[in-house]
Amino acid sequence: MPNITALSLSHSPVRHRADALHTLAERLLDLLVEHAPDDVTVNTEAFRAQLTARRDELRHEEDADRVTQLTSAIADDCADFLDRTRTYHSDREGELAELVLVLREAVDAVRGNSLKFEKDLLRSTTEMGRMVQLDDIRELKRALSQEVQTIRTAVAERQKSEAKHFETLTTRVQTLEQSLVKARAEAATDALTQLPNRGAFDVAVKEWVARAAHTGQVFTVAMVDLDDFKRINDTYGHPVGDRVITTMGQLLRGAIGEGEFVARFGGEEFALLLTARSASKARDRMMALLDGLPPSFEYQQDGHRRFVSFSFSGGVTAWVASDTPESIVKRADEALYDAKRRGKKRVETRPRSMLRGLMG
Ligand code: GH3
Ligand code: MG
Ligand code: MG
Repeated sequence: MPNITALSLSHSPVRHRADALHTLAERLLDLLVEHAPDDVTVNTEAFRAQLTARRDELRHEEDADRVTQLTSAIADDCADFLDRTRTYHSDREGELAELVLVLREAVDAVRGNSLKFEKDLLRSTTEMGRMVQLDDIRELKRALSQEVQTIRTAVAERQKSEAKHFETLTTRVQTLEQSLVKARAEAATDALTQLPNRGAFDVAVKEWVARAAHTGQVFTVAMVDLDDFKRINDTYGHPVGDRVITTMGQLLRGAIGEGEFVARFGGEEFALLLTARSASKARDRMMALLDGLPPSFEYQQDGHRRFVSFSFSGGVTAWVASDTPESIVKRADEALYDAKRRGKKRVETRPRSMLRGLMG
């Protein structure tokens, strides 16, 4: 419905000026609304709503003073808004400069070969990702996001190649470790009998003495030596002598129980660590082995069956609290010497204490 008042006023000079101002304001407001940066930081939405409201008011306002007030208010709103956008733009500029710096760092890190590569790069990309998330010139944002993606791919590739390199190194280390374990085992094993060797025995007797000192639990040491072995070598030859040594080793291995220890001490001599709690018990076991020896052992030579017989002597002693590894081995060796002296093919003991030693 046409407005009568508006019609009657349309030809007055005041109305004319108001119309001109109105048109100008409308155009200016259009421009501002259209070109306001689209961002929450500067509160564009609120500014647009405010302008639209004032515009509606202006459109329907008839009073000239009120129109002047309204236009002045619009001018103030615009000045405020432009102020905010100016700050916004200078902040953007600062962020942009920082962004470029971070990008430069990241690119340098990709190019360089420093150890800090990954750490630097991940920090840069995180930083960049954070900054790129802020609303910004869209084109630049897209380009930088792409750059971030490129850098991430570079990191992933580097990690992949490093993982492969690491895998190769791990395999090599494992091979070396296995070789080391094998070499250690070989170093502790006697090649002829495959029994632990003298070095391994020295280590074991130390452990046994230390354990006994801790628990107080008695154990025994036995030394075994083949009788007249020189004669066996001389009569049958060195290779047969070797086979006798091997056979003796097998017999001793079969004679020990779980947790006991036998080693080739050297030449045709063996050393045992037994759990027997007294020298006499250990002696009984060694005597049983000696008594159980077959009268002869068969072997093949030049396609012929041949026979060799052998015996051994043994010396046994039990651990005493004052023992060192050396003292207990020495005492067992002395007992062995006794056995040899008393006619061989026998097992002798050395007493545990000096008192018993004096008593015979
Ligand atoms: P006893 O009854 O007093 O022990 O006399 P034995 O002849 O057994 O003792 P002796 O120490 O005189 O001789 C030991 C011999 O053992 C001398 C050495 O040539 C020989 N022998 C040492 N090691 C080996 C070996 O690995 N193989 C062979 N075949 N002989 C060895
Ligand atoms: Mg001998
Ligand atoms: Mg000997």
